[in-house]
Amino acid sequence: MQCMEKIAIFPGSFDPFTIGHESIVRRATRIFDRIVIMVGYNSNKKSFFPLEMRLKWIREVFEFDNNISVEVHEGLTIDFCKKVGAGYILRGLRTSADFEFERAIAQVNKQMYPEIETVFLLTIPEHTPVNSTIVRDIIMHGGDASRFLPRVLNMEEFRNGGYQK
Ligand code: ADP
Repeated sequence: MQCMEKIAIFPGSFDPFTIGHESIVRRATRIFDRIVIMVGYNSNKKSFFPLEMRLKWIREVFEFDNNISVEVHEGLTIDFCKKVGAGYILRGLRTSADFEFERAIAQVNKQMYPEIETVFLLTIPEHTPVNSTIVRDIIMHGGDASRFLPRVLNMEEFRNGGYQK
């Protein structure tokens, strides 16, 4: 069973990881002892940025935060929670559309694994329009998406890192 330490996992595809994601994780460190960012891997779903790049960028963002780690998982989120002993799933909420989608996932997870609690943090207003799909589109079309990406990351790597050009 779970230990006393409050561990939350933050699951997502992070294709790519944006300032919206970073903000949710940093705010959550005031609630949880440890946060494990779970990069979901689905062999049937093609991402824009390769898994190794997505991982590398997230590791760079949290290089100096020893209570935040990053791991890859293929399969059900609740199985990963059991594996790392996490009692909480962290998710960010931007809009009512997010809410409807997240509600279903959280309720199904709760049915499958009653010990788990999903905790939602409402995005800060400036980050409401930030989403990975739009950031990807900007990069794909040669635009400057740096204002939507974590500050420590280098925009050039994103330009060169995508599968499609
Ligand atoms: P998924 O593929 O599961 O939708 P994402 O990588 O898009 O994963 O997002 C992971 C989590 O981050 C989700 O809870 C999502 O709502 C949240 N999120 C995404 N963008 C933002 C943002 N701009 N502000 C706050 N939360 C966000």
